[in-house]
Amino acid sequence: MSIATNIESLQIDLKPIGVTLVAVSKTKSNEEIMEAYAAGQRIFGENMVQEMVEKYEALPKDIEWHLVGHLQTNKVKYIAPFISMIQSVDSLKVLKEIDKLAGKHNRIIDCLLQVYIADEATKFGFDHAELIEMLRSEEFPRLQHIRVRGLMGIATNTENEKVIKEEFYELKMLFDGVKASFFRKAETFDTLSMGMSSDYSLAIEQGANMVRLGSTIFGKRIIKHYKNKD
Ligand SMILES: *Cc1c(COP(=O)(O)O)cnc(C)c1O
Repeated sequence: MSIATNIESLQIDLKPIGVTLVAVSKTKSNEEIMEAYAAGQRIFGENMVQEMVEKYEALPKDIEWHLVGHLQTNKVKYIAPFISMIQSVDSLKVLKEIDKLAGKHNRIIDCLLQVYIADEATKFGFDHAELIEMLRSEEFPRLQHIRVRGLMGIATNTENEKVIKEEFYELKMLFDGVKASFFRKAETFDTLSMGMSSDYSLAIEQGANMVRLGSTIFGKRIIKHYKNKD
């Protein structure tokens, strides 16, 4: 299957059920991204700041770039002028920096709060208590240049579907709870990003409305990003 046919058949499945497809293009070439673009795909995800900036500069400006990897505070400045969504916000510190730089560029940057749901020590994200603590903090409501659109999570890398399902279920419950408690009046708190190539069907079944797919679209990556180094 070609990249174009992969995009087309995924969109046929996902669009009617209201699930947004983020094409995760990390390690993939501009030519490969352009194949997906030609098939109509406009949202692309990257997990490294520098790689994203290089692709942003080279590729069409109507692409919406989503950061899906850990973001260091000192790197926010490189993406603040153009980023569409930062899915991997994992601390108040980085959120404040995003707010500051978005303000500088007269922008409001859409963010997802990454929640730690996996049974693995290597993943980034808030745990439940940290998330609630931040949302309740005095500082959070003062941030005027970020818009929290929802939550993002990565399930455990396992064949055990029951484990994955429970993690996604837990994140959906948290999403509903956080929405009811903190974003009742905000119609823009509407995005639950969960599911990658190996588990996106389970994620959708549990309530995801955004999935992040790399290898399903582009084929296997030669270099595996075990963690985000930038
Ligand atoms: C790489 C990556 C994906 C896509 O992974 P695939 O298994 O290739 O679909 C999704 N989300 C995040 C956070 C990633 O780093």
